Amino acid sequence: MKVLLVNPPRFKKMAVIREERCEIIEKNSVLPPYSLLQIASLLRRQGHKVSLIEANGENIEYPDFEKLLSGEDYEAVIIKFTPSTFDWDMKAASISKKHSDAPTIGICWTLGNFARTILNEAKDLDIYIRHEYEVVTPDLIDRLAKGPELSDVAGIAYRSDGEIIINRDADPINNYDDIPIPAYDLLKSFNLYYADTKHGQPFTIMYTSKGCPNSCIYCTMAKTKWKARSAHSVLEELRYLKQNYNIKTIMFFDEVFTLDKKRVEKITQTIVDEKLDIKWYCNSRVDHIDMDLLQKMKQAGCTAVSMGIESGSQKIIGGANKRISVEESAKAIQMVKDAGIKAYCSFIFGLPGENSTTVKETIEFIKRTLPTGGEFNVATPYPGTRLYEIALEKGWITEQTDFRSLLQNKSIMRTEELTSEEIDKAREMAHQAIFLNPKWWIQNIRYVIQNPDDFNLASKYAIGALKLAFGH
Ligand code: SF4
Repeated sequence: MKVLLVNPPRFKKMAVIREERCEIIEKNSVLPPYSLLQIASLLRRQGHKVSLIEANGENIEYPDFEKLLSGEDYEAVIIKFTPSTFDWDMKAASISKKHSDAPTIGICWTLGNFARTILNEAKDLDIYIRHEYEVVTPDLIDRLAKGPELSDVAGIAYRSDGEIIINRDADPINNYDDIPIPAYDLLKSFNLYYADTKHGQPFTIMYTSKGCPNSCIYCTMAKTKWKARSAHSVLEELRYLKQNYNIKTIMFFDEVFTLDKKRVEKITQTIVDEKLDIKWYCNSRVDHIDMDLLQKMKQAGCTAVSMGIESGSQKIIGGANKRISVEESAKAIQMVKDAGIKAYCSFIFGLPGENSTTVKETIEFIKRTLPTGGEFNVATPYPGTRLYEIALEKGWITEQTDFRSLLQNKSIMRTEELTSEEIDKAREMAHQAIFLNPKWWIQNIRYVIQNPDDFNLASKYAIGALKLAFGH
């Protein structure tokens, strides 16, 4: 079958990340559509032909997108979408319907529990891949190649005789090593991509594992099977990226890259032995790093570790089932900085139990620990999470709450003691507490003096930080 893959245009000129746990508008980062490239390589292996319209990365707006799409020859189209850009992304399905009778297929992880609503609201979407795209997409396309009967394709919802049918869940992929190297050849250039601010190109993201066995109440990845690639498979892809595209910077997009210390040690040792010369960063948890590992990571080119701290209040962290302690977080931030690695930390305001005292505790924590960089979000009740259930039980949202309003920078719900406006305000206070803090500036200027390569990134980050601190 000929399959067209679509990463839709930027949302009102702002770049969008359409990658499973991270399906958000992110105006400061343009990431390659890694999961679509994985899908492309899986489909090619089954003998299908694929093409890609990478409108987000290439900054193609809808009028030009339509011209491109109308020139494509395809028998099915797969479109990525996110909750807050839903109507925007679904324009791609409507445009496809104008030019072709190929089935339109959507993929979005965050709204997997809302399949019926999605198909009710997106009239031009025929099939919704709810989850486990690595398994479901090849199955679905193979089946479509044989005919319209879809009743036994696990993991999808679709229309049949005016009805919406939701099939059984699919099983996660058994062997994550089994995915071929993503079809990177479909990208125009790796120089289009960057995280946070333009730097370190050619740049890409990459999954070395996916899923997380932890059960944080706000996370759409909670309690999912941890699917990890072997060090061998990860290194094969790193070599490929280096040899074919001279990649300079990689963001390992795994939820928790360091979950298996031995695997990370093998990867880092080989990067050093083979002089792969890449700069990279990853996500981790404060309880899955230690100084020995951090030093090995640093030696292998790791420049930043991102950790979810969420709150400086033990009460809030406990209630969120994060299973870490405030002091563990403080120690981890210091340890990362001591290893010469930047500590990027994310915080969430407005989790259950949040009040003015706990906000103050978090602000104090931020001032005390001074992470190199910080991201401050509001609690977002994503469907399928425990937080969503709590918010419904407490009446903070209703079943009619529009999923399009699920944003991480604007609260849609209150807590027992704080209004949504007060939660938004807490976020602003956090920006000021860190980004206007003289000690934070001194610490980071010192880092740049020791790491002059970082000047470009750091200066752009500093401008963004000041804008946030002054409410822009
Ligand atoms: S540790 Fe918690 S927040 Fe991080 S991916 Fe796992 S469940 Fe999600």
